[in-house]
Amino acid sequence: MDDRRRVPRTDAVLGDPELVVAGERLGRTLVREAVTAALELVRQGALAPELAAATALSMLPPTATRLLPVLNATGVLVHTNLGRAPLSAAAREAVVAAAGCTDVEFDLTTGRRGRRGAGATAALAEAVPAAEAVHLTNNNAAALVLAATALARDREIVISRGELVEIGDGFRIPELLESTGARLREVGTTNRTHLADYAAAIGPGTGFVLKVHPSNFATTGFVSSVPVRELATLGAPVVYDIGSGLLEPHPVLPNEPDAASALRAGAGLVTASADKLLGGPQAGLVLGTRDLVGRLRRHPLARALRVDKLALAALEATLRGPATPVAQALTADSGRLLARAEALAGALADKGVDAVATVTEARVGGGGAPDAVLPSAAVRLPLTLATALRTGRPAVVGRQHAGGLLLDLRTVPPEDDDSLAAAVLAARTERRGGDD
Ligand SMILES: *Cc1c(COP(=O)(O)O)cnc(C)c1O
Repeated sequence: MDDRRRVPRTDAVLGDPELVVAGERLGRTLVREAVTAALELVRQGALAPELAAATALSMLPPTATRLLPVLNATGVLVHTNLGRAPLSAAAREAVVAAAGCTDVEFDLTTGRRGRRGAGATAALAEAVPAAEAVHLTNNNAAALVLAATALARDREIVISRGELVEIGDGFRIPELLESTGARLREVGTTNRTHLADYAAAIGPGTGFVLKVHPSNFATTGFVSSVPVRELATLGAPVVYDIGSGLLEPHPVLPNEPDAASALRAGAGLVTASADKLLGGPQAGLVLGTRDLVGRLRRHPLARALRVDKLALAALEATLRGPATPVAQALTADSGRLLARAEALAGALADKGVDAVATVTEARVGGGGAPDAVLPSAAVRLPLTLATALRTGRPAVVGRQHAGGLLLDLRTVPPEDDDSLAAAVLAARTERRGGDD
């Protein structure tokens, strides 16, 4: 019999009771897409017709989006392509609770309009007492645009040539700043800039001096830059883009700048991302003097760069709640990671998977601390499993190393070890199926 004639009709499969229920939850478009994909497999002879509905069900995304959850086993703590910081359980709960109507901009006691995001800004101010005032934006790039527009439009931003940074995906901080109508006054050289270089450039046309933390590369050798403490003596406001969002010094990352130290050293404004080492949602943090923060907050552009209620909820819970997944990953004990890797590799080897535990080096990632190496441990698998792991549910992304696939446990919360093992076993089965 011609296989094509055995392909069930789309409407017949869509009538499957479980797919109907799924359609009520996810919407008909995604269900129809999954059915179409399953029927294509039947058409190709890769799937028995009576399995079309069940296969379509298994292909449905977990939510009404095409976004899929990923287990980050790359060993890169803040992975931009995987959504940067994973939110804490406290932050996730806060997001869900705020998703309906919420008092984000309403005072329930007086019945009047309230100050938007007051809880999140208060939490940030409490976390960094050195800041006289704080403000929140959509992300750190927005914080820089707001600072440049409010403080240096048609004026000059004095910046070292060693800090003209590209932040990723082709976005360059100098171009971002110039797009506001501020002019850049570059000083010093790529490797060395001195206080006198800044001093010579500062004048009546200066908006501010900008210091940018090179968060995705490190320079070594014949290099020198000027610390904020010295820049602050020059008389112009100092804006310090610290990038990664540490609020205080972190013992594991001694070279990474933090907001409290920067302010104490005399920075007038500090800007940072909330979704890097702070471990929160995408947002921009602005901390500084009452005067400078006030000028940013009152600028009309502030309205265009404001934070949405979901991010406000997640940020407040990140600041007030227990240690974030990123914080836990930073401080996880490497001996404990190796013990987990050995247990996982042992369990997988018992099931016939070619898995061994190995020590590795994890990284903070594009989110900061480019020179920091974090001792870690991984399960090493054959590279042939990489695709099946990436396309499984949940998707598992590891990293390729010396002809093998490493699943680095520093970025995997311990409670996900069982899911990780199950995903590897499913990927192995999938591979076998593919080889037949
Ligand atoms: C990441 C980063 C930015 C951009 O921050 P976003 O929150 O992604 O907009 C800007 N400056 C530095 C130094 C960074 O590390």
